[in-house]
Amino acid sequence: MERPILLEEVAARGVRLTAQRRAVIEVIQQAQKHLDAGSLLKLAREREPKIDRATVYRTIELLKRLRLIDELDLMHLEGEKHYYEVKTRRDHIHLACFHCGRIEEFSSPMFERLKVEIAHHTGFAIRVTRLEVGGDCRACAAAYPSVREEDTGTRTTQHR
Ligand SMILES: [Zn+2]
Ligand SMILES: [Zn+2]
Repeated sequence: MERPILLEEVAARGVRLTAQRRAVIEVIQQAQKHLDAGSLLKLAREREPKIDRATVYRTIELLKRLRLIDELDLMHLEGEKHYYEVKTRRDHIHLACFHCGRIEEFSSPMFERLKVEIAHHTGFAIRVTRLEVGGDCRACAAAYPSVREEDTGTRTTQHR
């Protein structure tokens, strides 16, 4: 997935950054997975030990306002946490595995066409599109074939 360089984008918009905000942005940029505010704070503190939660939230708000990051809830696999990621050049769909907690990313020209169709038929000027799919990833579906059948009834398996 192709993603813009946040620090460059922010600078291009004339926003001045403190070292602390810069550290938070670098953590978001370099993240290998979708991170919530708590994990962002922890990782940012490894760079700038004095960063507090408010700085993390203010930086997230700034990046959201500039439409450089997306906020996700990833099927609430872990309760009410929100996760952040650098916007990709093309929107992608998130697939969340209820079994192992794995998150996969998928993009498709059909998804792009769907947005065009929505805008065309409704006149809606779309700013954000979010599609999440929940289920069992390929590995879990193969390892636990019964998982699929359980889906129709009540589930007792612990979600990660
Ligand atoms: Zn899985
Ligand atoms: Zn993603």
